[in-house]
Amino acid sequence: MTEPSYIRLYETGELRERVERLEAMLASCDICPRDCFVNRLKDEVAACHSGYLPVVSSHTPHFGEEPPLVGKNGAGNIFFGNCNLRCVYCQNFQISQRHREQRVNEVSFERLAEMMLDLQSRGCHNINLVSPTHFVPQIVKALLIAAERGLRLPIVYNTNAYDSVEALKLLDGVVDIYLPDLKYSDDDSGWRYSKIEGYATRAQAALREMYRQVGHELAFDGDGVLQRGLVVRLLVLPNDQAGIRDSLLFLRDELSPKVALSIMAQYFPVNQATVARNPLLSRKLLASEYWNALDLLEALGMEEGWVQEFESADYYRPDFTDASVPFKDIRDFQGPLSSAYVPAPTLPKVPRFHVPSAT
Ligand code: SF4
Repeated sequence: MTEPSYIRLYETGELRERVERLEAMLASCDICPRDCFVNRLKDEVAACHSGYLPVVSSHTPHFGEEPPLVGKNGAGNIFFGNCNLRCVYCQNFQISQRHREQRVNEVSFERLAEMMLDLQSRGCHNINLVSPTHFVPQIVKALLIAAERGLRLPIVYNTNAYDSVEALKLLDGVVDIYLPDLKYSDDDSGWRYSKIEGYATRAQAALREMYRQVGHELAFDGDGVLQRGLVVRLLVLPNDQAGIRDSLLFLRDELSPKVALSIMAQYFPVNQATVARNPLLSRKLLASEYWNALDLLEALGMEEGWVQEFESADYYRPDFTDASVPFKDIRDFQGPLSSAYVPAPTLPKVPRFHVPSAT
């Protein structure tokens, strides 16, 4: 296993300086592009309903991420409570949109560091920070403690991509693997479905910064576990509401056709994705919609990544009332060491995509 990049920052004292600079941003919070300008050091809260201390809803080994993150022992997921978006179809709405219930999940920085070390002691291959955006300073503060106590796992930044470029610059060399969702290709959809202004504009700027930091090369260890790089997730929505083609064009033309993709079929209508409130999102994906999205990979010349099984919507629904195992263990469905991303026959012009066979 190669040494994660934050160790060098820790040894030079730079990591401590990053903590100080990030914490200063909390005094008039512009940690994400919402720019609420409240003083979170004094526990003032705004759009993300989050004060000074981090909120952790669950920490657990997880086997539902992309194969090179899961490895044999699982990704070390830390699910943060609350969120800076309000996605009407959020599958994690129990923890992302019920801030009053999440108050009991506030933890100290020492406790967050202990969770990281616990996941390492359980054999996880990385620390997978799920919805980290609104807690970036708190995470790096806990990481400093954990690094002092022996944490040596790569850090995965698993984000909705509504991140500020300024905060991301302070994560340069802290994060080993960027794992952003590019949710929509236009700002209007971001407003309609996630109640956020300028989503596509800000997310594309964030992805440019992530790409500047780590490029498109993926670095693996000898067991095929990802150590460094960028993997962009595209969740295919019903009725083409994510604008997959335009997002692929952005990624191909403004980043690289070699940027690794993760194409996701797991959409299931929950939360406010009802016929009455959001009719275009009120059903599961059709197989034809998913295969149309996969066809675009070859048509547009994308070269790298993974795709989910079409059936993944049937077993990808978490229940955070059991915080120790919020996702049913997908190995129960698919046998040991497998994930929802199934290696299968490769397409001729996209040889490194792992594509499930058509049904
Ligand atoms: S992190 Fe929270 S308080 Fe800060 S700008 Fe974003 S939504 Fe507002």
